[in-house]
Amino acid sequence: MARKTTIRNNDDGPDDRDETRFTEEADRRRAAEGVEAQERYDDELRPSRLEDVVGQRAVVERLRILLQATKKRNEPLGHLLFDGPPGLGKTTLASVIPKELGTELQITSGPSLSAPKDLLPYLTNASRGSVLFIDEIHRMPPTVEEFIYPAMEDFRVDITLGDGLNARTINMQLQPFTLIGATTRSGMLTAPLRDRFVNREHLDFYSLDDLADIITRNARKLRTEISPDAAMEIARRSRGTPRKANNWLRWTRDYADARADGRITNEVADAALRMKSVDDVGLEEQDRRYLETIISVFTGGPAGVQAIAHTMNIPADTLEDEVEPFLLREGFVQRTPRGRMITVKALQHLGRSLPAGRLTDSGLASSSESTPKTTKNQKELF
Ligand code: ADP
Repeated sequence: MARKTTIRNNDDGPDDRDETRFTEEADRRRAAEGVEAQERYDDELRPSRLEDVVGQRAVVERLRILLQATKKRNEPLGHLLFDGPPGLGKTTLASVIPKELGTELQITSGPSLSAPKDLLPYLTNASRGSVLFIDEIHRMPPTVEEFIYPAMEDFRVDITLGDGLNARTINMQLQPFTLIGATTRSGMLTAPLRDRFVNREHLDFYSLDDLADIITRNARKLRTEISPDAAMEIARRSRGTPRKANNWLRWTRDYADARADGRITNEVADAALRMKSVDDVGLEEQDRRYLETIISVFTGGPAGVQAIAHTMNIPADTLEDEVEPFLLREGFVQRTPRGRMITVKALQHLGRSLPAGRLTDSGLASSSESTPKTTKNQKELF
């Protein structure tokens, strides 16, 4: 979603803080540009109808039923919450729904709503049955969250005018609308907000076949020839995530144009992804650094996510949202009440071992000095 970047001007002469400030602003600007470029990429390949959405069959089936019932009764769809890791299709499904219903869509995101006044125009502009999509809804400040409760429940907002003794509240009636929220952290949503969503859907990682299907369809959209085994190879290295699959498809397509005859074959896909240091199960530089940090700095764990994030010098949110979900699902790391722990599978994959006795203590393996297998990965990448 479009995020505002504010670049402050300062007429004072340069001081020591200026350089830091400009570097931070440049970082923020680059991050915002990166987000915008990704959004453009996403929009180009986003399915526009429910029938073009691949995978998530149970979720799609339930949505079909909701849409049919809504159309039949000519009532607004009940508020809907999507949760799941980034890139799995939350925005895609949220944008498909109003198209299927033939209604309007307004889009905003939790971090861009800093006060109720930021949300008000979206609520007053919402027409009957239209959809308001709030991405990263768990990042809405509490004041905005409280403001949205009566809007969700009774389609009304309470606006306070003036303050102190002169303060008075007026109620404004809204058109009945549908709020679709998306979150990567359903656990961070307050119970009152979560409870106001009558429909909640969790999106899970995609199967290899579904990812290969998405890659093949999108190669067609990009007018690029891809062999079935190359589509499967990219799928295998896409961490179960359509956004990753699309990004790797674009990269292998560039690679095929620059280094081959433009066709994406298995060899081209493999060479292109190795050049990006993506290993044969889809782990990237950052995933390996995360695992290596737990192994070397925290001797296999348990380690708290904040401590790991500090050591790696990246935000804990990035680890929790983007790195850990796939590693947890694949069994490379375990989440215990005492913190994150490395698994035998991760050690074997990386060709590493822990100090004697370490794994035996945790009960994860019978022998800590087990000879790690060298995977195709290490042979080729390291
Ligand atoms: P999220 O909102 O969960 O971060 P998006 O909906 O933006 O993820 O999805 C990222 C990209 O992945 C989209 O542009 C779309 O091209 C692709 N994508 C996601 N889910 C699907 C799907 N089920 N079928 C086809 N493409 C998908």
